[in-house]
Amino acid sequence: MMAKQFLTLLGATGTIGCNTLEVVALHPDRYGLFALTAHRNIEKLAQQCRRFNPRFAVVEHADDAQRLLQLLTDNGARSATEILHGAEALSRVASAPEVDIVMAAIVGAAGLAPTLAAARAGKRILLANKEALVISGALLMDAVRTSGAILLPVDSEHNAVFQSLPHHYARGLKAAGVSRITLTASGGPFLHRNLPDLKRVTPDEACKHPNWVMGRKISVDSATMMNKGLELIEACWLFGAEPDQVDIVIHPESIVHSMVAYVDGSVIAQLGCPDMRTPIAHALAFPERISSGVPVLDLTAIGVLNFKALDLQRFPAVSLAYRAIRSGGTAPAILNAANEVAVAAFLERQMRFDQIPGLIEKVMNMLSPMPGDTLATVLNADAQSRAIAATLIRQQSFS
Ligand code: NAD
Ligand code: MG
Repeated sequence: MMAKQFLTLLGATGTIGCNTLEVVALHPDRYGLFALTAHRNIEKLAQQCRRFNPRFAVVEHADDAQRLLQLLTDNGARSATEILHGAEALSRVASAPEVDIVMAAIVGAAGLAPTLAAARAGKRILLANKEALVISGALLMDAVRTSGAILLPVDSEHNAVFQSLPHHYARGLKAAGVSRITLTASGGPFLHRNLPDLKRVTPDEACKHPNWVMGRKISVDSATMMNKGLELIEACWLFGAEPDQVDIVIHPESIVHSMVAYVDGSVIAQLGCPDMRTPIAHALAFPERISSGVPVLDLTAIGVLNFKALDLQRFPAVSLAYRAIRSGGTAPAILNAANEVAVAAFLERQMRFDQIPGLIEKVMNMLSPMPGDTLATVLNADAQSRAIAATLIRQQSFS
């Protein structure tokens, strides 16, 4: 029996965070909780602390820390969980010596600093927070290589690619006989919607994904397919792929999670029910296999799997992502930041759904990419992009 491993769960109250805790709960002998972190949902964090008893709980603001303390204090008896707050505390629990595994499941650029801290500290990182890699691919991959950290993809497509690649792929895809990587995409809720109707879609419609239950930001990204654009960039960094080696194909059933094509004509794919507990369990236990609570896939019940080419006119966000990764440097950080601002504005009804790609393109046209090899340049590009995007939204100047 291996020693118990201790986990820091960044973004514990989110969809990925909750799914991770469900898998961990199935394996109390293997995994213990070192830290749980959350942003706003203090009630849920309190429940999770009571159930999983982590050494630390981290929130952003001091007043939320105070509230959490109250919620965890029962008749004067305090729980053993120590409560911390602030950005520095996030990085501390992601890099503490007692931690074996860090699940990076914060949404957006907010997850960058603690994920980098975990990479520098040589942790085993389970990466759901794709934005961190999109913003700082060169830095994060470099930190992983230097410290000997292990970066395992949780994003279902990348987890599928990882499972379909040979063990020695890090020596280079060509040497491994890989010809192409194909990411599958459901196409989201608007795959068949008349294009003019996209002017009128509401945040709730955009967040209603046909196959997956996810946080609101990634749900909107799935509806614009910027999610697949971010995943293209993620794939290039994770697997050392050229952008032109990565294809995207529409697969509405979300059963084939992605595929790898080899020079001999073989195609290896990973299939499964659309349930994030599968990639989470895979990354937690790799190279072993543990149960995830996900039912066995019944292909006869599904019957037919469909595949069709991606329509870039319907989904211009994907072209913007190809452009950003081909430009390199800070271009993906600029793309990501403008997208984060646009999605938040759409969710707050400050702009229309169909205006999101145009706004991002406009920001990309206004900022020249720089080399992305220091944290300062990357964060600067992120900040500039956010500021320009916010100004354009205030001026309602979208294309
Ligand atoms: P979510 O919105 O459900 O949860 C986000 C988590 O991040 C919450 O715990 C929240 O408290 C925390 N958080 C948000 N803003 C924060 C901030 N400023 N500082 C600190 N913590 C903050 O999102 P999710 O669906 O769980 O997605 C999380 C990440 O995983 C995203 O990067 C997403 O792209 C990626 N991902 C999600 C799925 C999925 O199925 N949900 C699949 C693949 C990848
Ligand atoms: Mg995905």
